[in-house]
Amino acid sequence: MRHVLLAVSGPSGVGKGTMVKTLISRRPDVVESVSCTTRAPREGEIHGKHYFFLSREEFERRIAEDDFLEYDEHFGNYYGTPKSFVRETLKTKSVIMEIDVVGSLNAKKTFPECVLVMVVPPSLDELKRRLSGRGSETEAQIENRLARMEYELSHKDLYDYIIVNDDLEKAIADLSKIIDGE
Ligand code: ADP
Ligand code: 5GP
Repeated sequence: MRHVLLAVSGPSGVGKGTMVKTLISRRPDVVESVSCTTRAPREGEIHGKHYFFLSREEFERRIAEDDFLEYDEHFGNYYGTPKSFVRETLKTKSVIMEIDVVGSLNAKKTFPECVLVMVVPPSLDELKRRLSGRGSETEAQIENRLARMEYELSHKDLYDYIIVNDDLEKAIADLSKIIDGE
């Protein structure tokens, strides 16, 4: 079976992380790409598992060395996908990257076979509830993330698949079917 590189995007709080982590816990043939970031770890986040937490200096050194499949800066921090991890892992497994719209489109330029998936909420109110419920951002950060949503959704047409994350189990099944279908 061919292994696929999947980029999953969508507004912060829509449930991307929950969907991807649940799918990966059920499918040993799929792994998540671990991104690098300069933002501070949230409570419970582990270096090398959730992200590689780097200093700005280290991140910029890696940019200069062309070490990223794609990278971007948002909310004042860098986020990027290390090239070597993706190339090596694709030899034996499918890889899911959880990245924003700009990152997905850049990844598609480097890897044209990369499949782009956008996750959307059933409504704006529900998205706000999920962001507040997660409890990891301040009110100002939530407003910032909601404002970003419109921009993310305006790129829907460039995507290969759109998944509405209303019923979580159905959304996870949809994601799993996309990997099998590709
Ligand atoms: P993202 O990774 O897109 O920022 P998360 O996976 O952190 O989003 O999800 C944000 C919050 O929404 C979490 O508290 C999560 O448990 C909840 N959530 C995710 N999917 C659903 C769903 N289908 N229905 C209700 N709550 C959900
Ligand atoms: P968070 O701080 O909530 O973990 O992530 C903030 C945003 O960064 C999310 O929209 C997420 O999709 C994006 N992001 C995470 N990793 C990467 C990456 O490697 N590259 C890019 N371009 N965006 C990323």
